[in-house]
Amino acid sequence: MELTPRQEQIIEIVKNNGPITGENIADKLNLTRATLRPDLAILTMSGFLDARPRVGYFYTGKSGNELLSETIKNIKVKDYQSVPVVVKDNVSVYDAITTMFLEDVGTLFVVNNKSILSGVLSRKDLLRASLGKQDLSELPVHIIMTRMPNITVCEKEDSLIEAAQLLIDKQIDALPVVNKTANGWEVTGRITKTNMTRVLVELVSEDHF
Ligand code: ADP
Repeated sequence: MELTPRQEQIIEIVKNNGPITGENIADKLNLTRATLRPDLAILTMSGFLDARPRVGYFYTGKSGNELLSETIKNIKVKDYQSVPVVVKDNVSVYDAITTMFLEDVGTLFVVNNKSILSGVLSRKDLLRASLGKQDLSELPVHIIMTRMPNITVCEKEDSLIEAAQLLIDKQIDALPVVNKTANGWEVTGRITKTNMTRVLVELVSEDHF
């Protein structure tokens, strides 16, 4: 978040004199309290300053970096997840490729006949299968998919940064968001590198602060 020179000045005054009333900050800047109100609102909302009734403003002691990292750690998987695209484990590789194109995704999740996660298909899994001599419309996806228990998953309440760490550590493009049931994992969402890119873009827009 970019602060205006006046906001920087206010922070300096509060750092050196806090707790200090809005009136006294205004006096030091030769401005009216009303003129300062929007700046004080921005600085308290974004966490640089805290305000207590009858005490005044004080500096929270957090750097912009600390505030940013706190904001990021508070983002959950459910805030950015996309709709999952799933196929049944008995569909053919040919049909899976068609689904990947039609749905415009890079990763498909595979479920069994009880809608429980059984595997993952990436673009390269399908490309690799296409290099062979097999008839793709006769080859079921469960033969070529990455299967349970080797699937890396996340849950909707997990922090998004943990999911990002998993994408990096496992060198994969997507994670299924799952809901644990007695029968196994139901797939309820999808987290991809694209979701992560969106977070980065939105963090520089004002909405997050
Ligand atoms: P691509 O193969 O198109 O580069 P990925 O990097 O996502 O895409 O996939 C690499 C391998 O990891 C593939 O074999 C894929 O099946 C597997 N994979 C992808 N996502 C997961 C996941 N969430 N859990 C376990 N394995 C995965």
